[in-house]
Amino acid sequence: MARSEPAVEPRACSERHSLKSPRAYSLASVSKPIFSGQTKDDLAAWMAAAGEPGFRTSQILEWHYEKRALRFEDMTSLPAALRSQLAEGFELTPLHEVRSQLSVDGTRKFLFRLHDDNLVESVLIPASPALYGSAADRRTLCVSSQVGCAFDCQFCASGLAGFTRNLDPGEIVSQILEAERISGEKVNNVVFMGMGEPLANYRNLLKAVEILNAEWGVGIGARRITVSTSGVAPRIRDLADQPLAIRLALSLHGATDEVRQRIMPVNRKYPLEVLFEALQYWRSRKKQKVTFEYIMIDGLNDTPEQAAELAKRARSISAKVNLIPYNSVADFPWARSTRQAQKDFLSVLERAGVPATIRLEKGHDIDAACGQLRLREETESAAATEPATTSDLS
Ligand code: SF4
Repeated sequence: MARSEPAVEPRACSERHSLKSPRAYSLASVSKPIFSGQTKDDLAAWMAAAGEPGFRTSQILEWHYEKRALRFEDMTSLPAALRSQLAEGFELTPLHEVRSQLSVDGTRKFLFRLHDDNLVESVLIPASPALYGSAADRRTLCVSSQVGCAFDCQFCASGLAGFTRNLDPGEIVSQILEAERISGEKVNNVVFMGMGEPLANYRNLLKAVEILNAEWGVGIGARRITVSTSGVAPRIRDLADQPLAIRLALSLHGATDEVRQRIMPVNRKYPLEVLFEALQYWRSRKKQKVTFEYIMIDGLNDTPEQAAELAKRARSISAKVNLIPYNSVADFPWARSTRQAQKDFLSVLERAGVPATIRLEKGHDIDAACGQLRLREETESAAATEPATTSDLS
């Protein structure tokens, strides 16, 4: 099982919500290994143990990642006996689309059901100029790394029902394959900004990134893969020691400990001093700039003082800043910063020489904020299974 970073105690399913608890992850519910979670070496070892010749490994990977066969029996250049063995040994399509929402701006949000009935979200985002250092005309998929989240950020729908489990590498990779299959579009950027803290699912994250990046796998360039963290400092250092040139984004959302702590409990374990030491280490090992994500909440973190502090911090590690007007979530008291506050904040950063943008909003007409679609599905399921009351019948 993946190492789970105990930065914050996993929070039990919220008592504030009448959500149906996601079905607990148990050994009884574990299905076959997921094919998309196997590296080429894993598959080669499996084939050797099955007494199959080595060249078949590449053939199978080609059927999966290039020809996108949806059943082993469709891999017609393989012997029938091998196809049956593979079907017995692996799950090829582990995600099932529950619903998807298409925004007027082309943003498409997917809700997938996993083999144990848990739900995860992915969001396909149309081209954004210079998002995470990439050129325009990219198709970005925002993927989930966990079911729920233990980190309890006080603005995020994903944390509302607590943490359920880590995603398997195959469940991460399959989000890209399924999004491409459903949309008919090629994903060429991946950002780990969906549900969960990716650095709390570290080993599975690394394996998924290896498969996403591999030429025999999904084939997405490392510079087009961005891992976003709430600030798990030790794992930022570990990631810096990895050879892949992936990008790092930090969900900062507060420029002082006092403000950050109000909305991000992780800051108690890794305060800004510790976090910035880890970021300095990242910068010493990697060429790419770190991106700070900064949601703008009215009256909380959008003051000129916060902007000045943020500018200092960004300059200290040559970071870029993405300002994100807050998308309200019903359970939190926050409101989006006013347009004027957004502009004023941006100009403080610009005057300090910090590259910064206010992110163009995508998918504002759908449940685009991370975790909202899952929350809605589970709330509706719970309502559908609750006994009818007198008022329901009237
Ligand atoms: S913002 Fe990220 S780390 Fe924080 S609760 Fe949401 S998913 Fe978890």
